[in-house]
Amino acid sequence: MPATILDGNKIAAEIRAEAAAAVRSMSAAGIAPGLAVVLVGNNPASEIYVRGKVKSCEEVGIYSEKHTPPESVTTEDLLALVEDLNRRDEIDGILVQLPLPRQVDSKKVLLAVDPAKDVDGFHPMNVGFLSTQRPGLVPCTPAGIMEMLERSGIPVAGQEAVVVGRSDIVGKPMAMLLLNANATVTVCHSKTRDLAGVCRRADILVAAIGRAGLVTEHFVRPGATVVDVGMNRVTDAEEFARLFRGNLKREEMFRTKGSVLVGDVHPEVAEIAGAITPVPGGVGPLTIAMLMSNTVKAAKMRRGSIGAVA
Ligand code: NDP
Repeated sequence: MPATILDGNKIAAEIRAEAAAAVRSMSAAGIAPGLAVVLVGNNPASEIYVRGKVKSCEEVGIYSEKHTPPESVTTEDLLALVEDLNRRDEIDGILVQLPLPRQVDSKKVLLAVDPAKDVDGFHPMNVGFLSTQRPGLVPCTPAGIMEMLERSGIPVAGQEAVVVGRSDIVGKPMAMLLLNANATVTVCHSKTRDLAGVCRRADILVAAIGRAGLVTEHFVRPGATVVDVGMNRVTDAEEFARLFRGNLKREEMFRTKGSVLVGDVHPEVAEIAGAITPVPGGVGPLTIAMLMSNTVKAAKMRRGSIGAVA
């Protein structure tokens, strides 16, 4: 039986609506949450992401402003910008869009963001809060996945969860959130032996790898929940055929656009999984929705209406 499709767009719309309701009640109390986005240079993918984030702010009623330093920016220039945003009271969230240019010390810049305004949840202080189960700001992509599991009625406590990928942005915080929710968690990476065998143990399998269609049906226990974080653009005809041969809709898209967006999970997995997130329309929309709810959370925390970031 084909898997239940976990509709990220639908759940993201629910989360945005809740954030919008919170913004309305805050504005009745004279508070207007604000988000500052820093977008360096002209990376086309980053520009698309930032456009989506700004649009979502408008929809939810969050004030947003965009700062666009040139590609040649120095670490010192960015530190000065971040310091200024840290100081401004009307800014509740600061998001520095990654990747930053090579000459910039990214770690130094992310460390400079006030942890109370760190809506990406990348500051070591928020990483520490997450791992010690204290209130803080949690990275948007894994936080969105937890929301999706919960809102879709997928149990986590006591389940075997396998996370493939150990990045600071997705894999590690995902593993920590699943552990905090009482799953038994295994984290895999490029050096893992028998990756398929380890993945087959999973009741919940999260793929955050960045390799198109790497997770095939041999990696998945029938009935498992599969969360596909990957966003890979496939332009190679042979690779396209490996993934989508016989899929008329995708073949038409590939012919007209010359590329398709593919997750880390092979489409054949949808035939055996119990539930699966599509790409596009799965994890992606949740990431932006959680940025909205993190900005609202930061605004509340800074004003002491929920547990504060120290
Ligand atoms: P990174 O490149 O930072 O991390 C990838 C991880 O996958 C690493 O831990 C790496 O292992 C592991 N890996 C790579 N190749 C293999 C392999 N053959 N077998 C097992 N493990 C492997 O990527 P991110 O975590 O930033 O992103 C992962 C994917 O998710 C990307 O496609 C990205 O575009 C997408 N993404 C999507 C988002 C969304 O909103 N939908 C948000 C963020 C990311 P090792 O550590 O050993 O190198």
